[in-house]
Amino acid sequence: MGITTIGPDMPGFPRDYYNVDWSRAACSGSDVEAFYEEKAGVAKPLNIILRKICGGCPIKSECASFAIKHEMHGFWGGLTPSDRVEIRRKAKL
Ligand code: SF4
Repeated sequence: MGITTIGPDMPGFPRDYYNVDWSRAACSGSDVEAFYEEKAGVAKPLNIILRKICGGCPIKSECASFAIKHEMHGFWGGLTPSDRVEIRRKAKL
């Protein structure tokens, strides 16, 4: 089984996904599974690494905005699913 990598050609996302230039993503080419480990109980140590990657990403704000609107799972824009739940709650989204 091969590794699924993050890149601009991820199919099946909402329309505004395709308005972001994902080719500039700092995580481009990374193992997508690393960004979806919250169910595996390794989220906290991994999140430190992911926050560093996202911290240097030129499209971090676009990524976070997309995920706040659309994504219930995974680490996007430096935010965990729990982070996004809290943001939605505070913004009454
Ligand atoms: S902010 Fe993080 S998850 Fe989003 S594209 Fe950049 S590196 Fe990837």
